[in-house]
Amino acid sequence: MNVMEKSKFCAHFLNGSAEAWSSYRQAINLAQDVLYKNFATLPQPFSGIQVEELASLLETEEICPEKGKDLTDVLKYIGEAVLKHSVAVHHPACSAHLHCPPLTAALAAETMISAANQSMDSWDQSPAATMLEEKIVHWLCRLFYGDGRSGDGVFTSGGTQSNLMGLLLARDRFLKERLGWNVKEKGLPAEANKMRILCSEAAHFTVKQAAALLGLGENAVIKIRTDQNFRICLHHLDQQLHYLRSQGLMPFALAATAGTTDFGSIDPLHECSIRARQFGLWLHVDAAYGGALILSDQHKHQLDGIEAADSITVDFHKLFYQPVSCGAFLVKDATCFDLLKSHADYLNPEEDELLGVPNLVGKSIQTTRRFDALKLFVSMQVIGHSQFAGMIDHTLDIAQAAAQMITDDPRLQLINPHPSLNAVVFRYLPCKKTEGSEQLPRQNQINRAIRRSLLHSGKVVLAQTKVNGMYCLKLTMLNPRITLSDVKCILDQVKQAGSQYEA
Ligand SMILES: *Cc1c(COP(=O)(O)O)cnc(C)c1O
Repeated sequence: MNVMEKSKFCAHFLNGSAEAWSSYRQAINLAQDVLYKNFATLPQPFSGIQVEELASLLETEEICPEKGKDLTDVLKYIGEAVLKHSVAVHHPACSAHLHCPPLTAALAAETMISAANQSMDSWDQSPAATMLEEKIVHWLCRLFYGDGRSGDGVFTSGGTQSNLMGLLLARDRFLKERLGWNVKEKGLPAEANKMRILCSEAAHFTVKQAAALLGLGENAVIKIRTDQNFRICLHHLDQQLHYLRSQGLMPFALAATAGTTDFGSIDPLHECSIRARQFGLWLHVDAAYGGALILSDQHKHQLDGIEAADSITVDFHKLFYQPVSCGAFLVKDATCFDLLKSHADYLNPEEDELLGVPNLVGKSIQTTRRFDALKLFVSMQVIGHSQFAGMIDHTLDIAQAAAQMITDDPRLQLINPHPSLNAVVFRYLPCKKTEGSEQLPRQNQINRAIRRSLLHSGKVVLAQTKVNGMYCLKLTMLNPRITLSDVKCILDQVKQAGSQYEA
């Protein structure tokens, strides 16, 4: 092959040639058409296809054929085999998890993010993108801390990563300040087995996961009981803190939750911050779910106290309606990131720092990283503050109304009486009474069957969770398009599935 000639791969990459442009437009238009036909117009949230059926549908295609195929045929196959059997996140009856319909503005931004393919680790791979991400991070710091100057942050893949980063910084600062120990260089000291993290029993499982990954072990996490609204019980928290101290143990972090995954409950953040100060704990607030309330004048008071947090997790792929994945990790004191920073000669040489060139790799546990900040920026610009708040307020209003509807229905039992966000947990109560010890297992069996049968029919995608031994159903109503008649329709289907199972 003569390598001096025009590349024969020209049409496969974006570039200034007419040939490349036409192939790009054709490809993107095709993808849009297939998406519209096989996904956007789906009449119900799921096709209901079973595991074996789907496995065989996807079995036939060879992953890497000897000779490439036409994009039209490939995308058509994806439409039929994949998109048609995906969960329709935009459907109001798709209300199982913290899994949102993405904003159209964000989808437009996604085409730019992937095509421009900037990588956020170093300035020379993402100059303008680095600047914009920093600008958005400082906006977030102003929102949550009331002051964008001393705080800092970075975009992450989501709550799992943000929670890990919060507890990582908490661990390293504690050991540095208390024992003069540098974890980054020396690993964990012998005393590490005395370190303890406190959180409520409704906190996200990634707190435990982070403790394990940080070499402290899952048993380092002390779970505090919750009150009747599934918020951390302060009395029990105080008791535990005194007890841990009396045992010579080293509590070093309190992970409060602003929006628990099951109930959307928000720990009393101000009271938590008082304990954190009193006991010298790092306060991490996991606001992956509830962080969006900061934009609602009506509801942001629920986050009062968050400004005292040493670090905050906020997810944008939940209540901020962004495509997966998009999250942020914020810290009150920007110098904390020094605990994390490494220098790689090829990415963020120290001379860059002297010249004031920002290389964001120093603030992240990722290296190559997507420019996800762009989709949040475009969304905020297009939707605007008041309409955004309106969306969130609407879903919270619907959740209140749904809770009332469940309370008023003798066939249903509401489990979280005052939902703070838009998650409503409930269960179906069988018509036929069963005797004493048989009753709970029977109720559990029916509620599990309801969820399975609705998923199989594809009409409603609900979540299940276990509360005090009871199997419950959960509606997570993130979708701003949901109406009360959608909720009624979902609850009718639950009752219908329940009575069918009983019969
Ligand atoms: C979703 C969630 C997480 C995990 O976040 P990912 O974005 O899925 O990694 C952590 N904490 C809470 C409270 C969550 O709701």
